[in-house]
Amino acid sequence: MFENQYVDVTIPAQKNIALIAHDNKKADLVEWCKKNKTILEHHFLCGTGTTAKLVSDRTGLPVRGFNSGPLGGDQQIGARIVDGKIDIVIFFSDPLTAQPHDPDVKALLRIAQVYDIPIANNMATADFLITSPYMDSPYTRSLLNFRQNIDDRVKNM
Ligand code: PGA
Repeated sequence: MFENQYVDVTIPAQKNIALIAHDNKKADLVEWCKKNKTILEHHFLCGTGTTAKLVSDRTGLPVRGFNSGPLGGDQQIGARIVDGKIDIVIFFSDPLTAQPHDPDVKALLRIAQVYDIPIANNMATADFLITSPYMDSPYTRSLLNFRQNIDDRVKNM
């Protein structure tokens, strides 16, 4: 049987938060960021290209921008989750409009689930998340020990 099958990984008090909004939801995200500016300014913000620039321009918060979502931005954020560099995702997706990068969106949701990352895909969830006591304290989650898992699988092949 596998040893050390799980490993504890702690989300720090000061968090790396990724912001993403589909076009019909961008105005909502800007308003949400304005409303929560005093909380968000204590954390590190990043986002897909257009969302990041819009939030930064309209709120004055510093937001590091990756590529635009349809040009790989969602995948960049997914890769950073895998690398342990993103702790929370606020993703105002549009459930009523077809997206050209739907597979990327699904991949991001999946990888956030795999790494037990808090991810809000609507305003109500984002409100619950941002008011959580864990926003200004560390939170430890238990993840599958992927390294050990590889070692054990290779041994058994
Ligand atoms: P955008 O990408 O911020 O560059 O518009 C968001 C998305 O559609 O995933």
